[in-house]
Amino acid sequence: MRKRIQECKRIVVKIGTSSLTHPQGGMNLRKIERLAFVLSDLQRSGKEVVLVSSGAIGFGMGRLGLNERPNTLAETQAVAAVGQGRLMQVYENFFSTYNQPIAQILLTKDVMDHPIKSENAKRTFQTLMSMGAIPIVNENDTISTEEIEESRFGDNDTLSAIVASLLSADALVILSDIAGLYDQDPRKNANAKLIEEVETITQEIQDIAGGPGSSQGTGGMATKVVAAKIAKKNGIETIISSGENIDQLFEILDGKAIGTWFHGGGE
Ligand code: GLU
Repeated sequence: MRKRIQECKRIVVKIGTSSLTHPQGGMNLRKIERLAFVLSDLQRSGKEVVLVSSGAIGFGMGRLGLNERPNTLAETQAVAAVGQGRLMQVYENFFSTYNQPIAQILLTKDVMDHPIKSENAKRTFQTLMSMGAIPIVNENDTISTEEIEESRFGDNDTLSAIVASLLSADALVILSDIAGLYDQDPRKNANAKLIEEVETITQEIQDIAGGPGSSQGTGGMATKVVAAKIAKKNGIETIISSGENIDQLFEILDGKAIGTWFHGGGE
């Protein structure tokens, strides 16, 4: 059992578009419904929960009847603007079933890099949590541009680690379409083994994940390991696990050995 995980109180959960949509497009209502149930129950059990959710672009595409991601920046940002409202509407519907207040927080990198603005954001998060609300965070895609690289988080893995650090969270749980970090790419090699625990993020671990900045890593793990590294530096435990069965979040936070656990603290 992972005793340190059992003791975690303030938890940031990150979920990606692939876990919120069906492979052929369209919202995965079953998963969104379970997410609302599990997070509402965790909140009632005394945890403080923050959700970092992607899905704005995916849900916007669905609403606009697009089968492919747009390839211009203006269109991508417009699609995200359509989808973000829809995303929050669906969350509001499901969370309200459990009488669980939620709040939308859209962040940009320059806000998080700015001492006063980030302090302000932190205060809002803390106030929401003290009111018992679950903040739901995404990047403000409408104004974060890919063209100005330093103005953008770029992916919600990094964003989730920065939010967890800002809030001095105890744990960051990244739900992915892969069940954790494997010693080889599990999609290419059936003998790939799940690495259950990472105490130190060595060069070897980064290489397995595909190295920083690479999107070709073992199951798209590169940005997740970068996130675990940011969290680790701030003393936060990170678990990368499958988003297939959302109810597993209960077991993960009960300390069961599920997914890959990156120890908080140290290198
Ligand atoms: N902010 C993007 C969205 O909501 C997702 C970015 C990511 O998945 O990393 O569609």
